[in-house]
Amino acid sequence: GDEYSGYRRVLLKLGGEMFGGGSVGVDPDVVGTVARQIADVVADGVEVAVVIGGGNFFRGAELQQRGMERARGDYMSMLGTVMNCLALQDFLEREHGIDTRVMSAITMGQVAEPYIPRRAMRHLEKSRVVIFGAGTGMPYFSTDTAAAQRALEIGAEVVLMAKGVDGVYTADPKTTPSAERFECITHREVLERGLKVADATAFSLCMDNHMRILVFNLLEEGNIARAAGGARIGTLVST
Ligand code: UDP
Repeated sequence: GDEYSGYRRVLLKLGGEMFGGGSVGVDPDVVGTVARQIADVVADGVEVAVVIGGGNFFRGAELQQRGMERARGDYMSMLGTVMNCLALQDFLEREHGIDTRVMSAITMGQVAEPYIPRRAMRHLEKSRVVIFGAGTGMPYFSTDTAAAQRALEIGAEVVLMAKGVDGVYTADPKTTPSAERFECITHREVLERGLKVADATAFSLCMDNHMRILVFNLLEEGNIARAAGGARIGTLVST
């Protein structure tokens, strides 16, 4: 059943790949669906911050394999995340009338505010959706790590990790049909069992600082509101 633990402030992490609907660029249908669900969460009185990946445009590691310098490829990829942020901002404001601020880790004053933590928190207090762009602003990091870091710094109670699967399993459910989903698991057990929730840097940040992570399926309509409402969906990783 649905159990409402009533999150007050959440950080939603969305993968870039889903934003692109499986190809390069932004899929308006996906962005529209996500925006509608975020609007529902805001209507429930929950403060929402968002980190979006950039895999639908570039990934630094992949550009490196094709001969580019890693750091430059990472910067290109971070710029890609900002396009995703602007797309989400557009849908939230235009279709739902929700005040939204994009805050970028790389300064680009015409399209986004700089990331200023206290200002981010002020926006959240005023029920504005804050979308963090450009990851951490640092090459060699990931948007999962940005999600963990921002969640910690702005005092979010949970990282809502939206995925294409509905949680953490004992094994890969695609290759192991008997794999079972965990409803709850500790950070330590995730490590001990060699399971993957996020990349190692992001995960250790969460573990060291007791940040909860809810892994849930984005593809099921309404799940963002369920996740933010504390419903027992997906897998909750906590200490
Ligand atoms: N990136 C980076 N530093 C960051 C965040 C992202 O260099 O703090 C780059 C990196 O190349 C990464 C890409 O941006 O591969 C896209 O981010 P990510 O892979 O996390 O996106 P997702 O897989 O969630 O779509």
